[in-house]
Amino acid sequence: MTPLAPPATIAFLGLGMMGRPMAARLVEAGFKLRLFDISQKAVSDFIGAHPSALATASPKAAAQGADALITMLPDGKIVRQAVIEGRDAAREGLVAGALVLDMSSSNPVDTQKLARDLAASGVALLDAPVSGGVKRAIDGSLSIMVGGAAADLERARPVFAAMGRTITLCGPAGAGHTMKALNNYLSAAGLVAMCEALVVGEAFGLDPGTMVDVFNSSTGKSKATEVKGRQFVVSRTFAAGFTTGLMAKDLRTAGEVAQHLELNMPMLQRAVAYWNDANGKLGVAADHTEIFRYAEMLAEEGT
Ligand code: NAD
Repeated sequence: MTPLAPPATIAFLGLGMMGRPMAARLVEAGFKLRLFDISQKAVSDFIGAHPSALATASPKAAAQGADALITMLPDGKIVRQAVIEGRDAAREGLVAGALVLDMSSSNPVDTQKLARDLAASGVALLDAPVSGGVKRAIDGSLSIMVGGAAADLERARPVFAAMGRTITLCGPAGAGHTMKALNNYLSAAGLVAMCEALVVGEAFGLDPGTMVDVFNSSTGKSKATEVKGRQFVVSRTFAAGFTTGLMAKDLRTAGEVAQHLELNMPMLQRAVAYWNDANGKLGVAADHTEIFRYAEMLAEEGT
């Protein structure tokens, strides 16, 4: 099968914090885009900046004539609605031989079912969630974790290469989504550990900025200390561009995978409960770095 090189046509569903810059990279690489988002503003803003892209009225209309369909939607349930189950779903517009690339962070058990259902229409699915956040979506250096067939990845490689720098085939359908949920478990755990350390240190009289600098030159260094510590937590700007709601969803996914495999993971279960409760207190739309405020709230409750 020939690789999907520009000017191949790509249907793109979901122009949010991540979808917008990812779709922009595709336009800049020379792909033709057919767009759909339930937010008309998201679509019109994008077309204002990239007039060659085409707005469509439904997932089905976006999929018509497309060589590949990318979903960058909040979760796997919404992906399933848009691709298969909803009104004017994308599958109705896709031709046999088209590729679906679910780049959202979806639940891998749902993904395995979606792959089977699409295969019945001659459409292959790759799960290809991303890591790196808005900043790396803008500069096209995302880490892309792929689940599915190696031959399908080779077809999709030019599309992924326009958006990411590291493209890793993790295994069969669902492997990319499993990898992503587990990655975000580590990311969330590191962030909470840093926030708790900052709250304790500050109460003892340490300067939080100095603490982050020391972590970054010591063994406590992590992505949280390096790219979120001073930037979003110590500054209290809380503007990393990834919500508490989405992080809690990723942790629940990791917990559900462990449960599906009947594995007892006490730290992971604790992390799921912690982020779910934080969601309730901070609101799902809060930036995930506001977990620092939640750590402060818990600290105030005392021992
Ligand atoms: P977002 O909420 O900013 O964007 C989601 C977009 O999907 C919105 O524009 C919304 O209008 C649209 N949408 C919702 N339902 C729809 C439907 N049925 N049909 C069409 N469009 C629909 O979310 P985001 O931060 O861009 O995240 C998207 C996915 O990427 C999530 O799965 C998230 O977990 C994952 N992710 C996010 C980040 C990040 O830093 N924000 C990083 C890595 C992965």
